[in-house]
Amino acid sequence: MTPLAAELKALIATEGPLPVDRFMALALGHPRHGYYMTRDPFGAAGDFITAPEICQVFGELTGVWAASAWEALGRPAAVALVEFGPGRGTLMADLLRAAEALPAFRAALSVHLVETSPVLAARQNEVLSAASVPLAWHRDLSTVPPGPAILVANEFLDALPIRQFVMTAAGWRERVVGLVDGALAFGLARDPVPQALIPAALRQGEPGAVVEICPAFHHLAAGLAARRAPLAGLFIDYGHVASAHGETLQAVQAHRFTDPLAAPGEADITAHVDFEAFAAAAVASGLAASPAVDQRALLFGLGLRERAERLAQSRPDAFETLRAGVERLIDPAPAGMGSLFKAMAVASSRDLLDRLPRLA
Ligand code: SAH
Repeated sequence: MTPLAAELKALIATEGPLPVDRFMALALGHPRHGYYMTRDPFGAAGDFITAPEICQVFGELTGVWAASAWEALGRPAAVALVEFGPGRGTLMADLLRAAEALPAFRAALSVHLVETSPVLAARQNEVLSAASVPLAWHRDLSTVPPGPAILVANEFLDALPIRQFVMTAAGWRERVVGLVDGALAFGLARDPVPQALIPAALRQGEPGAVVEICPAFHHLAAGLAARRAPLAGLFIDYGHVASAHGETLQAVQAHRFTDPLAAPGEADITAHVDFEAFAAAAVASGLAASPAVDQRALLFGLGLRERAERLAQSRPDAFETLRAGVERLIDPAPAGMGSLFKAMAVASSRDLLDRLPRLA
């Protein structure tokens, strides 16, 4: 039993079953035993691998997008470049290197890393301290200084806790984590779910249908809107373009799917991103959101082919690694990164959104 499982059992024994979002928040973010609090989870020896860790072109093209966003913002002399969930800092390092091609842009940047993990923040510091750019760390958006901002986030939204509702013969009920014979087990709360919590288009469902919502989308969107300053953001993650019934909560450990309740605190727990819901949260807060496009289209649109060719010429020794990495990022198979992953741009106004690079 993991130390977090023991704490969760004690908590459930005194307070009752936990909604899935509370379970997920503790599994990932518990101050002592949360998954991200205690480890660097990336790479072959870790639990999973992400696009920036696969190929440098991913961060470099994010840099191309960020430079265009800076142009669209009217080339401000100072702009906050905010990354949510920066992992090992690889994306930001590659982005900043690509930004050297546009010195006025690079000179305008101060980098703000929104990160809850002390282990990963230390890693980011190691990787980025040589970049000669002002760096600051934040636990959430609230301490990022005011003014124009460019935001990037890869595989951040999937870590935000979700709630799950299940259709029963008696109507929608919330899924909870409780105890059965002393073991953590999924169950359903007794009380009905207030109708308003279920998106209108999903309220009709067969028994067993599952609806997932992510309340943190609203907090994030409201926090961005509350800055009352121009901003442009690019959010990339695995997920779906349109809201639908279905269950996507998943746990991954050592590159395999596992039972989310088997080893809380020692497996990554995420959910697929509902980009329609994320866009709706943005719009409800007064922001504008682009259609979601797949990662393959995003990367080609940002100049993948040209950048990969140039790199291959300058580093012929690394050609095979580069080719394999790029292929993986754009893999069009249903579970391949090129199609499973989507990208969405968010901006403080429709007008600004229209000036950002078209994502596909
Ligand atoms: N963007 C990186 C890492 C993705 S993993 C990459 O592509 O490689 C998720 C990242 O989000 C980790 O850095 C994790 O510590 C961070 N994270 C998870 N929940 C968070 C939260 N609520 N607030 C800020 N960062 C969070």
